[in-house]
Amino acid sequence: MTNILRQFSFELPTRIEYGVGVISKLGDELRLLKAQKVAIITDPGIIKAGLLDKITSILKEEKLLYNVFDGVDPNPKDQNVERGAQVVRSFGADAMVAISGGSVIDCAKAIGVLVSHDGKRIKDFEGKTAVKKQILPFIAIPTTAGTGSEVTFSAVITDTENNYKMTVRSPFMAAKVALLDPKLTVTVPPHITASTGMDALTHAIEAYTVKVSEPVSDALALYAIELISNNLVNAVKNGEDIEARACMLVGSLLAGIAFSHSDVGSVHCMAEALGGVYDAPHGICNAVLLPYVMEYNVEFCIEKYARIAKAMGETFETSREGAMKAVERIKKLATEVGLPSFKSLGVKEEDLEKLADMAAKNISTESNPREMTKEDYLTLFRRAMAD
Ligand code: NAD
Repeated sequence: MTNILRQFSFELPTRIEYGVGVISKLGDELRLLKAQKVAIITDPGIIKAGLLDKITSILKEEKLLYNVFDGVDPNPKDQNVERGAQVVRSFGADAMVAISGGSVIDCAKAIGVLVSHDGKRIKDFEGKTAVKKQILPFIAIPTTAGTGSEVTFSAVITDTENNYKMTVRSPFMAAKVALLDPKLTVTVPPHITASTGMDALTHAIEAYTVKVSEPVSDALALYAIELISNNLVNAVKNGEDIEARACMLVGSLLAGIAFSHSDVGSVHCMAEALGGVYDAPHGICNAVLLPYVMEYNVEFCIEKYARIAKAMGETFETSREGAMKAVERIKKLATEVGLPSFKSLGVKEEDLEKLADMAAKNISTESNPREMTKEDYLTLFRRAMAD
């Protein structure tokens, strides 16, 4: 069914600066923010890859005071946020620079929330209404092509008391500027390129197919699907290929804008449950579940899946044939980039009920094109487990 008669509104509070070498604009951007004391939020992987030095040398040139908080885990934890907020507060930062993947960018957003609201526990800000004002201004520099967090309004943080990934969401949390430099992504190792790339593809596919999709996000999602599906294998196999890296970074950006204005669906509901309970990498969780959910949804998305197949360069006679080709192409892509199986995540049979329950309670369950109950989720988890 077309969405052309439904109302929508579209706003992007983040300015995007993109290009090979665009990182050199960081000084100008900080000057525009009138920053004097800059908190850099990052993680050990970025320091190891030599990327932190690029940032600190720019800040030194600009004669800005800075400090570094690198205590962010993948699937960032509430404790990472609360510790980070203490560090940023005691330094007296007036701006932040978040450099790494979605974990760091999300953690920076959540740190910004605590600092500007004088908060102690990020749990108090869970949901869509608790953030009441603009957070500490920050510049997001994504170095993976996956989450699109540089342009979304949410932070996904693990509640370590209850082992689940909560979402804190508000337009006040958007980055002031997203600096996207494909050069910064060439050091991403192949397995992370693969899983983060599949994450971005999942965003685009779900943004396009959920019940709440709208025309602007549809347009962004379809081009994201084209860019990602045609460049992921090359980016994984030949990480130095700057053009493939650039296509992936733009694909991930467009997918991020798309899903934050539309929504994600059941793949994410299941992946977030898995990530919370097993602390498994988010991109892998999405990637291993995407084919199962697509197969389950296919009858409810024939036309849209056919359009996805077209964006991936497939040819076909009927929409039904196209829709099936889209599902097959996703399975093939996951194999080509060497993604692990669901089984390899070590999921225990006795946890499946809990995981299905968590997925069913996720707010994005309502957006999935096919109605999903806890039992439906259980069926899908069992199917993935059996393969
Ligand atoms: P990540 O941020 O956890 O990074 C994975 C690893 O890659 C880290 O060890 C990091 O150091 C390393 N890395 C990053 N860039 C590198 C580079 N250029 N060279 C070498 N190593 C590099 O992974 P991610 O997939 O980007 O983020 C996942 C997180 O984002 C999850 O917590 C997920 O829930 C969240 N997420 C958020 C949104 C949102 O809109 N806020 C959307 C989707 C996912």
